[in-house]
Amino acid sequence: VIGAGVAGPATALFLKRVGISATVYEARPPGDGAGGGVVVAPNGMNVLAALGLARKVKDRGSIVVENRYFTESGRRLARYSNGGDRYGEPAVALLRGDLHRILIDELQSQGIEVRYRKRLVHVEPRETNKVVASFADGTTARGDLLMGADGVQSLTRAAVFPDAPAPKFAGLVGVGGLVPTAGLAKEDRNSVHFTFGARGYFGFCGARGGSVMWWSHVWRDKPLTQAELADRSLEGLQRELRDAYGAYHAPIGELIENTGAPLRLNVFDLPSLPTWHRARVVLVGDAAHAMTPTSGQAAALALEDAMDLARCLRDTGTDHARAFEIFQRGRRERVERIVAAGRRRDGERLAITPFQARVRDLGLWVGLNLFGERSQDWMYRYRVDWTSGGAPPGAG
Ligand SMILES: Cc1cc2nc3c(=O)[nH]c(=O)nc-3n(C[C@H](O)[C@H](O)[C@H](O)COP(=O)(O)OP(=O)(O)OC[C@H]3O[C@@H](n4cnc5c(N)ncnc54)[C@H](O)[C@@H]3O)c2cc1C
Repeated sequence: VIGAGVAGPATALFLKRVGISATVYEARPPGDGAGGGVVVAPNGMNVLAALGLARKVKDRGSIVVENRYFTESGRRLARYSNGGDRYGEPAVALLRGDLHRILIDELQSQGIEVRYRKRLVHVEPRETNKVVASFADGTTARGDLLMGADGVQSLTRAAVFPDAPAPKFAGLVGVGGLVPTAGLAKEDRNSVHFTFGARGYFGFCGARGGSVMWWSHVWRDKPLTQAELADRSLEGLQRELRDAYGAYHAPIGELIENTGAPLRLNVFDLPSLPTWHRARVVLVGDAAHAMTPTSGQAAALALEDAMDLARCLRDTGTDHARAFEIFQRGRRERVERIVAAGRRRDGERLAITPFQARVRDLGLWVGLNLFGERSQDWMYRYRVDWTSGGAPPGAG
């Protein structure tokens, strides 16, 4: 398994459930690189429950009870339930680092090896023999199958599908941070707040302990370089955020002023790939279907992929080609529908004139109040059909 983000560890854990042993190869050193926050939607939480990890995730995060939408002046556009227990598990907001830690701890406790500082540079997608992965440190690894869980800039994808469309920079950089004590009321902490204004979009919700996590974006013509992404300094970004969002309703200005080191993430959109597998190699998670963050579903889809891929391999015995084909066929329609839904909402983030913002507010008010809660139902309700042809996972 290449990549120890979200899809990689989950894939290795589900593979073990079906009797396939895996090793995870991760480019970064241990404990590095998983900054910012993430909201895991109910469908993703149900996958974590199947791994026996939902309790840990809820303990480290904050349950999202409601979605609330506001204009920049603080007028409420809509508020509706984020599902609660209706879908099994609730949505949970937590730090990406905490989700990562929970997954990595579980790999370790199950004896699944993670090899760090192993940056994949090439893979030979042979059908007849073992697949060979080559790493930047000059080492290689051989296995029967290779799962490319190496994210939106997947080297696996580039190596195995050289003609596949490249991810397109979406023109924005996601930024986010954590404010250790923001003094939000409990009811507010358990809601995700989305504010749409003429200069763009700002979101926040409660995270671990009394902290609040926030996220937004800034506009760029080209993606940030590695050095710029690694920059955790506050000043320049804080000034930019203050200019754009400082006058939005409370407590947004306060969150910007009191935030800890911010995270920056280039946002890419991946055009639909003709196929997710070739010979003994298959892509999962963002490597197969990255989307802009508007959908709020990408991590959940990565988790679903992991579970479904293991199910397909279990149900087809040693016929990996058939397993990969069933996996792709079963997942593609759902994934592409969610990608399309996210793209339709991308306009909500745009910087526009105050008049356009008022028109958009009206559209959001009508749309969210009429369809908001219903529009999430089909995404949240989905469950990977683990039982078809086999025993259900033991934990809950
Ligand atoms: C700004 C922003 C906000 C987001 N917010 C949300 C949200 O609230 N909710 C949600 O559901 N989703 C959200 N997402 C999306 C979510 O983060 C991803 O969908 C999810 O992390 C995908 O998991 P993954 O394992 O496929 O990829 P990743 O999490 O990107 O993991 C890939 C891993 O592979 C490693 N890797 C990369 N290249 C190599 C290589 N060559 N060799 C070895 N290892 C390699 C990386 O270091 C990394 O650890 C957001 C994304 C962005 C950009």
